[in-house]
Amino acid sequence: MEHVNVQRPPAIRLMRIIRSISLMSAYRRALHHEGVRIGFVPTMGALHQGHRALIRTARLACDVVVVSIFVNPAQFGPREDFFRYPRQMKQDAAMCRENGVDVLFAPSRDAMYPPDFQTAVAVHALSQRWEGVQRPTHFGGVATVVTKLLNIIHPHIAFFGQKDYQQVVAVRRLVTDLNIDTAIEQCPTVRESDGLAMSSRNIYLTAAQRRAAPVLYEALQAGKTAIHEGSRDATRIRRAMLMKLAEEPLVQFEYVSVCDPDSLEPLTKITGRAVLLGAIRLGPVRLIDNLSVKAKAKGRRGKGR
Ligand code: AMP
Repeated sequence: MEHVNVQRPPAIRLMRIIRSISLMSAYRRALHHEGVRIGFVPTMGALHQGHRALIRTARLACDVVVVSIFVNPAQFGPREDFFRYPRQMKQDAAMCRENGVDVLFAPSRDAMYPPDFQTAVAVHALSQRWEGVQRPTHFGGVATVVTKLLNIIHPHIAFFGQKDYQQVVAVRRLVTDLNIDTAIEQCPTVRESDGLAMSSRNIYLTAAQRRAAPVLYEALQAGKTAIHEGSRDATRIRRAMLMKLAEEPLVQFEYVSVCDPDSLEPLTKITGRAVLLGAIRLGPVRLIDNLSVKAKAKGRRGKGR
């Protein structure tokens, strides 16, 4: 085992950039030996305020924060944007440093997927719905890379954004099913002032598409309003969302759904917690978003429908 010196995080932190998997594992073993709590934020880089919120939450909850930056080829489909996905390591490292990250783990593609690599993790049913219909290989790629990263880093807590709701649900499933000893914490979606969920891909939007983009969040809000006004029938709630999306001519519709928040199975009626999921395309850019909702028991509003 490589020898690694671990010191308690000093008041002014020095961030390590680790590219080697064996060095990352050795450092993690040393941290565990010291009884340090490790918080982990996996990312693909091009960091924005959404990632920053995850890092800050991890910073408050844990002794040492590890952020990974790895643009994972396995989660991109053949016609997706792997080669032109934004890469800005210098800027990202500065952002991590400013936000108290202790370790930036940035392995190479060859280190993560050497030529003889041949194993995959699959979260079966969850991967086939919603995003999985448009992106059939996506969650297999996510599940495999998240499993690898959790095995390398062994964090006490890993932090994920609600923005990618189906991803968090799939990750929770895999850590449960594979007995991985990491708690999964979901952090709220960070939005632009007009409601658009922040995303590394928003930079691809033209000015006109950017003006249209908040319609997805507005559609989800319309669904939530319908529930607050008493609708319990998923068809009516979906209709409220669809009507909002129809107001924006640039939108190419993919899906909106009213789902069970854990299984992501579509609901016909909501009786308690649910999640509203949506995906649209604006030109070549896909946008996804979601809202957690809760139907209050009838009678408490005085008037129900
Ligand atoms: P990515 O770099 O896109 O793979 O995202 C890395 C992590 O950041 C994932 O857990 C995402 O869900 C999370 N994330 C991305 N955008 C946001 C956002 N707008 N608000 C909160 N979390 C986000």
